[in-house]
Amino acid sequence: MSEAGPIRYDLTVDPAGDKLIVRGEAEASLGFHCSRCDKFFSTTVRVSSFLHTYEWAEHSAMLDVSADVREDLLLEIPGFPLCRADCKGLCPQCGQDLNEAACDCSPATDGLSPWSALDGWAVKPASKPAAGKPQAGSK
Ligand SMILES: [Zn+2]
Ligand SMILES: [Zn+2]
Repeated sequence: MSEAGPIRYDLTVDPAGDKLIVRGEAEASLGFHCSRCDKFFSTTVRVSSFLHTYEWAEHSAMLDVSADVREDLLLEIPGFPLCRADCKGLCPQCGQDLNEAACDCSPATDGLSPWSALDGWAVKPASKPAAGKPQAGSK
């Protein structure tokens, strides 16, 4: 993650007693590596409801909200950034960027899910006594 552009914000400051209420919006263009294809891309991260309260006494000379703006922006950053919603990612075998071109790998698991190995499994009921044999206590 890196900053690809300046942080822009549109904030209003309301004095409220001995406090300052700062609210508004902020956004920044941030650069990410796609979590699927590792391509670098930038996207706008936006905080639509920035709201912080400051002690007037502590900030009478200058109120610098940039640290809090930055912190709120960081909270908006996706945990698994994708260059686009339908990013195909990289081929796990040859590393080809599947967004650009298909590769020649023929995946052995074509059409099969990782669970397909379990398809042959059946849950067998607990073994019953053979038919015709009276069970103990059933007379
Ligand atoms: Zn991607
Ligand atoms: Zn491949």
